[in-house]
Amino acid sequence: MLGSHVGLGGKEQFLGSVKEALSYGAETFMVYTGAPQNTRRKDISEMRIPEAKALMEESGIREFVVHAPYIINLGNTLKPESFEFSVEFLREELRRTAAMGSRTLVLHPGSHVGEGDDAGIMQIIRGINETFDADTEVRIALETMAGKGSEVGRTFEQLARIYDGVVHNNKLRLCLDTCHLNDAGYDVKGNFDGVLEEMERYFPINQVACIHLNDSKNEQGAAKDRHENIGYGTIGFDRLCAITRMPEFKDTPIILETPYMSAEEGGKDRTYPPYREEIAMLREGVFNPELHKAVLAAYQ
Ligand code: FE
Ligand code: FE
Ligand code: ZN
Repeated sequence: MLGSHVGLGGKEQFLGSVKEALSYGAETFMVYTGAPQNTRRKDISEMRIPEAKALMEESGIREFVVHAPYIINLGNTLKPESFEFSVEFLREELRRTAAMGSRTLVLHPGSHVGEGDDAGIMQIIRGINETFDADTEVRIALETMAGKGSEVGRTFEQLARIYDGVVHNNKLRLCLDTCHLNDAGYDVKGNFDGVLEEMERYFPINQVACIHLNDSKNEQGAAKDRHENIGYGTIGFDRLCAITRMPEFKDTPIILETPYMSAEEGGKDRTYPPYREEIAMLREGVFNPELHKAVLAAYQ
């Protein structure tokens, strides 16, 4: 299932998110429950969820995923208030995710903010254990991280240590981000089978609940995390397109988080989402060397 991340806000709220996904010809999508950079959120009753669900039903969107905001950090051992806030917010995110009708919440495991991987991992485990109980319906998909700053979760081994410590780890899943894997040092471009083999030393492939399909602006191992449009980065079109065709991921939401494309208009810089054109390109299986032009043409 192919889709992209979409916005949520304004008057239309979640209904607008579904409409945006449909405008890209997507079969699935990923959404933040508000702005990804902050934790201001509307009440569930104001999110226009019933209308959004009706539209999904009508248009055949069977699955989507929710992404927790970036500023949640379960790995912080230095500021107890920040950790407690993250735990409380994550509990609410799980409730919102369930109310919206998704079974998967994607989460960046966290950053150790200078205290080292072991301290970060212990704290993340503690945080998830405080969030989850046996009745939680939503699964948390831990995202593979690029390793910028003090990010934890940049190797499968680290993610496996988190799984090992979580009591209800039957409710944990993985989200593979191709840009992050590349930047963390995995050979996505040259040997993706090898990357999956490495993963399978720790996790069966059915643990992958979501894929973030992004090209990367940086070389393998750069520990940077800067996404690039499909086919325009160091991973390249052929590998990314091949991933969308893997039978193992036939029912997995594959989500584009590639950058908007910019153009100057009336002296101002405006940006446009590339997702409709990128999804079309991946479905066709043919790289479009003039993607920028095609995206701008679609909006003029
Ligand atoms: Fe993410
Ligand atoms: Fe991602
Ligand atoms: Zn990223």
